[in-house]
Amino acid sequence: MRNSADICIIGGGISGVAIGYFLLKNGAKNVVILERDYLAAGATGRCGAGIRQQWGLELNCVMSKYSCEFFENAEEELKYNGDIEFHQDGYLLLISNDVEHEQMRKNVILQNKLGIKSELLTCDEAKQHIPYLNTENLVGAAFHNKDGHLNPFHTTQAFADAFKRLGGEIITGITVTGITTSGGRVTGVETDKGNILTETVVNAAGGWSQQVAEMAGVSLPLYSERHNILVTEPVEPTLGPMVMSFSLNLYCQQSPHGSFIMGRTDDNQPRDLRQTPYSGFPELMAKTVVDLMPPLANLRMLRQWAGMYNMSPDKAAIYSKAPEVEGFYTAAGYSGHGFMMAPATGLSMTEMILGLTPTLPWQKMDVTRFEKGDLLLEPSVV
Ligand SMILES: Cc1cc2nc3c(=O)[nH]c(=O)nc-3n(C[C@H](O)[C@H](O)[C@H](O)COP(=O)(O)OP(=O)(O)OC[C@H]3O[C@@H](n4cnc5c(N)ncnc54)[C@H](O)[C@@H]3O)c2cc1C
Repeated sequence: MRNSADICIIGGGISGVAIGYFLLKNGAKNVVILERDYLAAGATGRCGAGIRQQWGLELNCVMSKYSCEFFENAEEELKYNGDIEFHQDGYLLLISNDVEHEQMRKNVILQNKLGIKSELLTCDEAKQHIPYLNTENLVGAAFHNKDGHLNPFHTTQAFADAFKRLGGEIITGITVTGITTSGGRVTGVETDKGNILTETVVNAAGGWSQQVAEMAGVSLPLYSERHNILVTEPVEPTLGPMVMSFSLNLYCQQSPHGSFIMGRTDDNQPRDLRQTPYSGFPELMAKTVVDLMPPLANLRMLRQWAGMYNMSPDKAAIYSKAPEVEGFYTAAGYSGHGFMMAPATGLSMTEMILGLTPTLPWQKMDVTRFEKGDLLLEPSVV
């Protein structure tokens, strides 16, 4: 195994491979990705892989617009031989009450100003997208036709292949066990396969990023919480857009091969590193989704699983160098939207590490925002 690297990225999820790709594309050399398991073994391979540009915070709109447009051309950009399965069937955001309606109205004005052509819909217009939608308890919806979903495994592989083509190395089955520092700066990484000398470490360890930071003596205000998700048997296509409700805390989509994939936030789930699925989830999920889309009652569930949302105090990501240890960088804390932001993550972290002019407003995502009180409070999340 190699014993030195210019940059060590810890974590082979979507963030790690996207950062690796953008680093090499922008001239970095001798970059290695260290992954304990297999690529996409963490939240990336467990996620809904939904992509939306409909946000209430300008920062999120700008980051997600950049990312969505990247994904539209990703197969060419990354020269991928496979299909990342980017289906832009839109996101239908359901509105349950007047307060939500007012928020969504403001969101749409902001999005339109930023070039995101979303629109507010009446219940009847929402039913044109999903004729069997039960609108009894809804007051309307918002829709944007460029939103959609991807295949998370193919997308990770596409970045990984491009990273390797540009000269990067990915080592899987290797666990980082320690990070050495001297005089307040990173000097190396300790692993179960030997040590690697390096002056730059990028923490892209998802749900485990707080633990990885602690290895370097860096304290991050992050925690992880379990989120459950399930998939049904495949059936004929009946659901175009991803359906999302902030008040019911749910999302539901039909994948290209016909299975429905759905999840919902449940405040009773543990805030730790558990990824074992919760046995009460299918019933909870079924009750919520069947009320909204009654024909789904006829579907059989195939399996359920769980993964971690990595959370910061304002539920927005941290893109930051560590104030206390030179050479230690973190990209984590995405809550439930780190997959869709991966191109923005890759570009932003690259510009930060290589000292390039910011394309995106990533400086606002620095960890120091918590002590300054400059929180990034997104009103529209599940
Ligand atoms: C149920 C669910 C649904 C979601 N739905 C969506 C969605 O629709 N859209 C969206 O944008 N986002 C969604 N998310 C969030 C999204 O999955 C994550 O934000 C994103 O995948 C984070 O990617 P990552 O690469 O940062 O972390 P991860 O994918 O978790 O990767 C971190 C990697 O680090 C490795 N690692 C950890 N510690 C070490 C170590 N010591 N040594 C070596 N390797 C280590 C892990 O094995 C892991 O592979 C969802 C998440 C969940 C759980």
